[in-house]
Amino acid sequence: AKGAGKSQWRRYESDLHSAMVQRLELRTALDHAVNEGHFLLHYQPIVDLHTDEAVAFEALVRWHHPQRGTIPPDQFIEVAEESGLIVQIGRWVLEQALHTVSQWQRILPPGRLHYISVNVSVRQFRTPGFIDEVRGLLDTYGVDPRMLMLEITETLLMRDDEQTWQDLQKLRDLGVRIAIDDFGTGYSSLGYLRQRPIDVLKIDKTFIDDMVDSPQQHALVQSIVGLARTLNLKVVAEGIESPEHRDTLMRMGCPLGQGYLFSRPVSAAEAFAWLNSHARL
Ligand code: C2E
Ligand code: CA
Ligand code: CA
Ligand code: CA
Repeated sequence: AKGAGKSQWRRYESDLHSAMVQRLELRTALDHAVNEGHFLLHYQPIVDLHTDEAVAFEALVRWHHPQRGTIPPDQFIEVAEESGLIVQIGRWVLEQALHTVSQWQRILPPGRLHYISVNVSVRQFRTPGFIDEVRGLLDTYGVDPRMLMLEITETLLMRDDEQTWQDLQKLRDLGVRIAIDDFGTGYSSLGYLRQRPIDVLKIDKTFIDDMVDSPQQHALVQSIVGLARTLNLKVVAEGIESPEHRDTLMRMGCPLGQGYLFSRPVSAAEAFAWLNSHARL
C-alpha cells in the first residue's frame, strides 16, 4: 500500500508538473498570438423574442491558431487574465467590434442595429486609461456611444468601491450602456443595483438550462425578470436552446435573448447578412 501511495504521489507530481508546463506553453503561445494578431471575433445575435428579429450582437473572441485552428475563449481567457494579456486582447476586441459596427452603420437603415455588446474583463476595466480608450475609439470610428454595450461581471462590483461606480458612471455619461453578465452567478448583494449606473441584466445560461423541468429554477428566473422590471433594467436571457425556453421566457416577460435556438456566434460577414437581408432569423 505504501508503494502504491508513493507511485500515486509521483503521478500526481508529474501531472502537476505537466499542467504547469502546459500553462506556461499556453502563456507563451498566447503572448505570440497577441503580437501576431491571431484573433478573430464572432458575433451572436441578441433577438427580440416576440418578433424573432436580431436587434443586437454580442462580440465573442476566438483565437485563430495557425496549426490548431479556432480555439474558443474558455480555453485561454483564464490564462489571459492571469498574465495580463487580456488587456491587449480586450483592447483589440473593442477596436475590432467598433470598426465592424462603423462599417455596418454606413449601409444599414438607422435603428436597424440597436447595439453591439462587448465583454470587458475586470483587469481590463481597472487598467488606467480604460475610459479614455473607450472614448477615443468611439471617436475614431465615429460610432454613437449609445451603440456600445459593455458587459461586465459581478466580480467587478464585489468590492463595492466608489471608484468602480464612478468609472461606470463616467462611461454612462458618455452614453455607453452597461450590462451585468452572467447575472446571479456571483455573490454580490442585490442592494447594489439600486440607483446604480447599470442598464441590463443578462441571465446566465445555467439558470435557463433547467428552467423548464425544475420549478425552483423556473421561480429563480422569474424573480430575476421581476427584479429587472422593478429596478427599471432591461433583461437578456442567454443560452436559449429550445422553443420551450423561448416561450417560457416570453410568458415571464423577458423581451430579449440569445442562444443556439436562434444562432450560434457567426462571422462578421454572416452577421451582417442577417442584418441586411432577412430581418428575421
Ligand atoms: P459569455 O460572455 O457568457 O458568452 C456567452 C457564451 O455562451 C458564448 O461562448 C456563446 O457562444 C455561448 N452560448 C450562447 N448561446 C448558447 C446556447 O444556446 N447554448 C450553449 N451551450 N452556449 C451558448 P463563447 O463564445 O465560447 O465564450 C465563452 C466566454 O468567454 C464568454 O461567456 C465570456 O465570458 C468569455 N469571452 C468571450 N469573448 C470575450 C472577450 O472578448 N473578452 C472577455 N473578457 N471575455 C470574453
Ligand atoms: Ca457576455
Ligand atoms: Ca454571459
Ligand atoms: Ca455565461
